[in-house]
Amino acid sequence: MKKFPLHWQILTALILGILYGLYLTEYVSYISWMGVIFMRALKMLIIPLIVTSIASGIANIGSGSLGKLGLKTISYYIITSIFAILAGLLMVNILRPGVGADMGFTEPIEGLASAKESFGSTLISIIPENIFVAFVNSTMLPIIFFSILAGIFITKISGKHKDFCVTALNAGFELMMKITHLIIKFTPLGVFGIVALTVSRQASDTAALLNIASRLGLYMIAVMSGLGIHAIIVLPLILRLFGKINPYTHFKALRTPLITAFSTSSSSATLPLTLETVEEKSGVSNRVSSLVLPLGATINMDGTALYECVAAMFIAQAYGIELTFVQQAIVVATALLASIGAAGIPMAGFVMISIILSAVGLPLEGVGLILAVDRILDMFRTSVNVWSDSCGAVVIAKSEGETLNYDK
Ligand code: ASP
Repeated sequence: MKKFPLHWQILTALILGILYGLYLTEYVSYISWMGVIFMRALKMLIIPLIVTSIASGIANIGSGSLGKLGLKTISYYIITSIFAILAGLLMVNILRPGVGADMGFTEPIEGLASAKESFGSTLISIIPENIFVAFVNSTMLPIIFFSILAGIFITKISGKHKDFCVTALNAGFELMMKITHLIIKFTPLGVFGIVALTVSRQASDTAALLNIASRLGLYMIAVMSGLGIHAIIVLPLILRLFGKINPYTHFKALRTPLITAFSTSSSSATLPLTLETVEEKSGVSNRVSSLVLPLGATINMDGTALYECVAAMFIAQAYGIELTFVQQAIVVATALLASIGAAGIPMAGFVMISIILSAVGLPLEGVGLILAVDRILDMFRTSVNVWSDSCGAVVIAKSEGETLNYDK
């Protein structure tokens, strides 16, 4: 029998959770612990996953010969990710899906005062006085700062020690990915527990339930319309203007990797296909594709960056908080960092939302409900991630003076 795919399992759990919350309201404590355990397990992953992913990612990139092409690629990727985030910010500010949403949040928003600090003091607090205190308090920006420094300087230490550190970090990252894979398998149970609990709290109040459902629906529309703007307007414009490439021809060539990205929700798993397609069908040289695409699968996640931004803004709106300009700037910057740090595996972006929430001082509790719809959004954002990598490959090949199959 073919395995029942995870996204269908989650959808089933979502429906069962709603029914349980509605009709077995008094018995919800029998199952709500599943959601609590699942969220605890996710939180357990955050710091080790982020540290090993960022430090090993940078150390691996820096150990190879990056050269001019590498720097050009990284700059290009950062720019497109910022465009993507801005598209998300635009949609979430227009649709305002979280405003007036009654998500049943209970945790107080204590940390937010610090987020009201000036931009200057926020920047200063990125440098940890004591890295262990940052770990204990889960203050993400100093942890990310330290991981980036470690990644950069590992490549500068002497041979034997460098190899040891790079191997140790890669091993740590592999280990964390294995644990993450295991925990993600339990997502349906987590969704079941969280949804049932939320629904049971409002079981007698149909209007409140409809409010949650419609706000979550609007949130999905905000993410998808942002992704649409980026994938259908911004990236094709870049293809035309900077690569002189017909976007539709490129899209047709990329169909198989895009469908694979959609169904696997993993840009890493899709990478071999993307590489083959971009070389065989688009005609990009191996010199360019073998650098640009693996780098893209690691650091260029436009769809994830956009999603991080919309999710964090949605949660802030649901808490009834109007983020100031400075706070929105922090959201944009941390969404970029989170997308760079996210691994190319299913739901990695979801784990990373905590970076942004903690940077602006919002409780992590907020991610519970959006978990229910995360897996579906993951399919769309992963396709955009792969689409963006492939656009990067052809545009950069063109900028290196290559002639593509499309030109022949
Ligand atoms: N699943 C995405 C990817 O592999 C990452 C994410 O969760 O956003 O590209």
